[in-house]
Amino acid sequence: MNKITNHLPTAELQAIDAAHHMHPFTADGELKQKGARVITSAKGIWLKDSEGEQVLDAMAGLWCVNIGYGRDELADVAARQMRELPYYNTFFQTTHVPAIALAQKLAELAPGDLNHVFYANGGSDANDTNIRMVRTYWAEKGQPEREVIISRWNAYHGSTIGGTSLGGMKGMHGQGSLPIPGIEFIDQPNWYAEGGDTDPEAFGLERAQQLEAKIKEIGPEKVAAFIGEPVQGAGGVIVAPDGYWAEIQRICRKYDILLIVDEVITGFGRTGNWFGSQTLDIKPDIMTVAKGLSSGYVPIGASIVSDKVADVLAATEFNHGYTYSGHPVACAVALENLRILQEEGIVDRVREDTAPYLAEKWHSLADHPFVGETKIVGMMASLALTPDKSKRAPFAADTGTVGYITRERCFANNLIMRHVGDRMIISPPLVITRAEIDTLIERARKSLDEAYEIVKEKGLLVAG
Ligand SMILES: *Cc1c(COP(=O)(O)O)cnc(C)c1O
Repeated sequence: MNKITNHLPTAELQAIDAAHHMHPFTADGELKQKGARVITSAKGIWLKDSEGEQVLDAMAGLWCVNIGYGRDELADVAARQMRELPYYNTFFQTTHVPAIALAQKLAELAPGDLNHVFYANGGSDANDTNIRMVRTYWAEKGQPEREVIISRWNAYHGSTIGGTSLGGMKGMHGQGSLPIPGIEFIDQPNWYAEGGDTDPEAFGLERAQQLEAKIKEIGPEKVAAFIGEPVQGAGGVIVAPDGYWAEIQRICRKYDILLIVDEVITGFGRTGNWFGSQTLDIKPDIMTVAKGLSSGYVPIGASIVSDKVADVLAATEFNHGYTYSGHPVACAVALENLRILQEEGIVDRVREDTAPYLAEKWHSLADHPFVGETKIVGMMASLALTPDKSKRAPFAADTGTVGYITRERCFANNLIMRHVGDRMIISPPLVITRAEIDTLIERARKSLDEAYEIVKEKGLLVAG
């Protein structure tokens, strides 16, 4: 049988890619010059490219391949499900076993009274569902003026119109005249970049209390919900100071505001518990999930909804859904992924063994002259690059210039580590071993050393 992959020389694949494939979040013109790296196969935490290089994927794809690459069980389940029932919808009073079984499993795993599942194809469209769901909830409660959703600058909630609007990425808002009406923002709890001389916890409280100020400004009778990631992911793995989430929840309760927690990254073991809400003691009314739900093997997302919200929605027809809501193949694969995470004790191992080990190694990078802080929760971590550690100083160069140089060194050293501005971030597959963590840290340190030299040579080691 012909292999699907590698059927042409790398340069030819790159040329065809450049001619016909528009890449997401990419300046295609620039990429065309360079050629995209062609990934051909993967196993565990290792990618293989078309030149035969083995690359350590410290990002688990896009934060999603929690059980690692190459698990045949998921392929087998997908094939079996495609033969038995490749597709059927759940719109018109029908259902099927994979959608039923996965909903039950998610209700069992999710904390508190999050017992109801509305399926989507990924995180963005699950958040679109959430916008309509919370507004419909309040309309049904006789308070249709409660439409505003409050989010945070530098949040990421996806790339659809709704997801982009909920997110706080100004560069994204700028393309397509977003956000949509009825989305408001408060500042993020990023002490390192924005905390100045304030003590971190006092700063966290201040940022949380912006929520109360914003609610008062808008009028509590107009606010439907607050949305936040337990740990901001795409924003740079920003960990809020202690006390932040307790204060956010106090305010939500005081004004009867629904709390949507976007667990698209933090779900399914990423933080050392099944959900980031458990790690950070958050009690959401609605939880967004995707990514690790299927370990990225197939697209699937969902809103996991509390009894409180689901009971109100049940009284009306919610005119919303996707052709592939609860797709049987996606549900079957997700269920198998959850079985593996659970039966192989992967989440427990992260919490008790490999995440503490990674934390110790990650924090050891803080002694590097280039590194201003290291942060980690479970298996998601970041470090800030700085020209002056003592002042947490940013670079004089455009934000991201130095981060990009560092990322390029990682890429050349066969380590996938991303940069967000001048922060470097990782989120490795949860099956990463101690020995592989050692390799990750070695390559990270080597890349930091090399980038530091380049940055010095180019005269960029200058505080802004
Ligand atoms: C990735 C992500 C999304 C969007 O998910 P897609 O599957 O890409 O639509 C939403 N929220 C968070 C927190 C994410 O990290």
